[in-house]
Amino acid sequence: MTHYDPSNIFAKILRGEIPSHKIYEDEQTLAFMDIMPMVDGHCLVVPKQGSRGLLDADAAVLARLMPIVQKVAKAAVAATGADGFQLRQYNEAAGGQTVFHLHFHILPMKEGVLVGAHTGKMADLAKLAEMAKRISAAL
Ligand code: AMP
Repeated sequence: MTHYDPSNIFAKILRGEIPSHKIYEDEQTLAFMDIMPMVDGHCLVVPKQGSRGLLDADAAVLARLMPIVQKVAKAAVAATGADGFQLRQYNEAAGGQTVFHLHFHILPMKEGVLVGAHTGKMADLAKLAEMAKRISAAL
């Protein structure tokens, strides 16, 4: 494992250098839509404090983050009419991580529909913006 590199894409989103479809923001946390969603309503929750993954994060940061993960998951499930959800969190390339700034994936799930790994397919941005609004309204 190497050190945290602030040139990663989520750090750029946090600095406002590139756009995102925001759902929720406070002093320590940002939630936004995943741009290559695995399912409808696929969103990400990130702490503003930089760490590569779970292992190098401050315990205090995690303690503040998890209630927001819960809040956004509740809203994403409500906004999509899902029957449940998965919380995914990948660490290092070997663990499937591609963006090296700690983040939690929220994947709303429908009964009987399996969800695979990353699709690599860009979302329709208008649909993503609409979904961000719906989840945000359900917070
Ligand atoms: P991972 O690091 O494997 O846990 O996943 C990184 C996630 O970030 C993937 O699901 C990507 O689709 C997503 N992603 C990459 N670039 C962006 C971006 N600019 N805005 C939103 N999501 C992104």
